[in-house]
Amino acid sequence: MKMRIAGIVDDSIVDGDGLRLSVFTQGCPHHCVGCQNPDTHAASGGRDEDTENILARIDENPLLTGITFSGGEPFLQPAPLTRLAKEAHKRGLDVWSYTGYTLEELLAKKNPAIDALLRELDVLVDGPYEERLRDLTLNFRGSSNQRIIDMNAFRKTGKIRTLEF
Ligand code: SF4
Repeated sequence: MKMRIAGIVDDSIVDGDGLRLSVFTQGCPHHCVGCQNPDTHAASGGRDEDTENILARIDENPLLTGITFSGGEPFLQPAPLTRLAKEAHKRGLDVWSYTGYTLEELLAKKNPAIDALLRELDVLVDGPYEERLRDLTLNFRGSSNQRIIDMNAFRKTGKIRTLEF
């Protein structure tokens, strides 16, 4: 399945817990002030990639513990990411995604493709980057408004439980 990406990092320890393959999607509508990845904003930037090639890269690295979707805004491309997430779970990997939307905003869209991706996530790091709330002491998030949400707990209880690292 084709998707548009800015790049891939094979051995990341900064985009979630453990050793991760991070997929940086291309295209972002949020334009957060102070964004660290402005090259990912234009939908026409980056390059086309096939999900099967990304899966092949995952299979080349037996040390991985998970995959992460970052960006850019991953939720602009929910269908290919859902495929990657399902395949990652089959391989025993956990799945994190970043988003500039809040979880509540994503749910309010009532978009079946977005809902399908949310169902496949173990962790969602949500909310835009807010420069005034920047905190370098935080792990896996840039500003304190962003939440590291346990999506398995959310599906069980319907309540947002945040994780601390
Ligand atoms: S959501 Fe992420 S990539 Fe998009 S503008 Fe904000 S910080 Fe940058």
